[in-house]
Amino acid sequence: RIAYVNGAFERHGDAVVHIEDRGYQLADAVYEVWALFDGKLADPEGHFARLERSLSELRIDMPMSRAALTVVLREAVRRNRVKEGLVYLQVSRGVAPRDHAFPTDPTPPSVVITVKGVDRAATEAKAAKGVSVITTQENRWGRCDIKTVGLLPNALAKQAAREKGAAEAWFVDELGFVTEGASSNAWIVDRDGTLRTRDTNANILRGVTRHTLLDLIRDQGLKVDERPFTPAEALAASEAFITGAGSLVLPVVAVDGKPVGDGKVGPVAKRLRSLYIERARATAI
Ligand code: PLP
Repeated sequence: RIAYVNGAFERHGDAVVHIEDRGYQLADAVYEVWALFDGKLADPEGHFARLERSLSELRIDMPMSRAALTVVLREAVRRNRVKEGLVYLQVSRGVAPRDHAFPTDPTPPSVVITVKGVDRAATEAKAAKGVSVITTQENRWGRCDIKTVGLLPNALAKQAAREKGAAEAWFVDELGFVTEGASSNAWIVDRDGTLRTRDTNANILRGVTRHTLLDLIRDQGLKVDERPFTPAEALAASEAFITGAGSLVLPVVAVDGKPVGDGKVGPVAKRLRSLYIERARATAI
């Protein structure tokens, strides 16, 4: 495997950043993840736009132009010979003597890219069976719209899910509504066929997959309601699923060990998964 670190392609095992990188010490860094279809970046625009927004919210400069970054990302993918997988980009504020406040000297951002392959046959098998999720109390900070590497609550939630044999954890806010998953957005299909997912005015990540899927849903003439739901509403719904660059559209068949609807993968999630993959493949660059 090959990684990109600050201007150079290196063997994955040899690629390092400095011990005083602010990403390492303070989680002062943002990231993006693109799904790869046939070696191409899925939903390119949405991820670039969100990267630029995350960086600007933290007042970190874009390390290079979108065009240059596209070239570097594709080169990283090419050198890894990955066709189906994920590409990870991390940009930190850079290396400086440890201090919570920003460095005063000009500090170039640190840029890291890694690529990994995914076994699409295995993920399709997983999607065909559906996955379980658990719920956990929302305990993250107030800026979940910024895609920072400060992921400790997400990591702990995901570990709790794994220990219960579940694939994802849904955070639940103080009013009892699901905010989102540890690494995905959450959806249900109501009994009347209306799709429901939380609005992005709430403290959640504006998922790129979520956004593309909303377009597809409207193209299909399906009804959608951007409104939060409770875990009980998910159980009473006919279907549930999650979206993200890693999960794409992944059916959820159980919440906290109880079945969603009839406990089987439903036709809506199944169809949306194939429509999303079709569109992502067709528009990848
Ligand atoms: N919510 C969180 C907390 C995430 O980490 C992710 C990342 O995959 C998502 C939602 C889904 O976002 P996207 O569809 O842009 O991958």
